[in-house]
Amino acid sequence: MAKVELLVECPHCGYSDRLDSFKLLRDPWRYSFYEVRRLQCPKCGGTFNYYYGVSPKGELSTFTIRFKTAQA
Ligand SMILES: [Zn+2]
Repeated sequence: MAKVELLVECPHCGYSDRLDSFKLLRDPWRYSFYEVRRLQCPKCGGTFNYYYGVSPKGELSTFTIRFKTAQA
């Protein structure tokens, strides 16, 4: 059975890699049925929130919300 690797794509530069290659900036927290992680891209340094969860209908849902870069 193939091991499923969770891929995350940086919303700033499009860099895509496994979740654990992004820097976790704070402990994950819950938002509704989502688990939210504040991540930093190892390539461009951009930060974003990564949402991961299974909806009440049983569907896997992930999305990202970007922040402005630290220089803003
Ligand atoms: Zn990036």
